Amino acid sequence: MIEDILSHNRKFVEEKGYDKFITNKYPDKKIAVLSCMDTRLTALLPEALGIKNGDAKMIKNAGGAIAHPFGSVVRSLIVAIYDLGVEEIMVIGHTDCGTQHMDSAKLIGKMKERGVSEETLNLIDYCGIDFESWLSGFECVEDSVKASLKTLKEHPLIPDSISIRGFVIDSTTGELTETE
Ligand SMILES: [Zn+2]
Repeated sequence: MIEDILSHNRKFVEEKGYDKFITNKYPDKKIAVLSCMDTRLTALLPEALGIKNGDAKMIKNAGGAIAHPFGSVVRSLIVAIYDLGVEEIMVIGHTDCGTQHMDSAKLIGKMKERGVSEETLNLIDYCGIDFESWLSGFECVEDSVKASLKTLKEHPLIPDSISIRGFVIDSTTGELTETE
């Protein structure tokens, strides 16, 4: 599949498919969006929000959640705010998210099936990695979004002037519902 992508890419560049996407690194709408890596949102989310190339900083991970106040998501937001002019943040969960009800025990079972040894798992446990919290999903998408909002609003490095709002997007219709 990557080979297909590479051959498409050569054609894209040759035919100057990039012309209509030319912009700069500063987000025109001064907005950052944190959402899920879900495949249904790849094109639906920007289209449903009216976001085009150059408009926003898009940050994605499994669940669109903030796992750690000093992890990679917050790091990205800090750069977006202080260096790139972002003034508003949207945290967007979505319906039928794969991270919902994610079970760390099941994931560990799948790791074992693919050859990860008990010894390796014990070693990681010994190093202080808490699989339960690292690999567990959330029960309710609204609660997950609210938890992320709380982390951001209380974060010592995020200025009070930044507007932070939470939403759930319908994975089929693209409709946004504000969480609070
Ligand atoms: Zn998801």
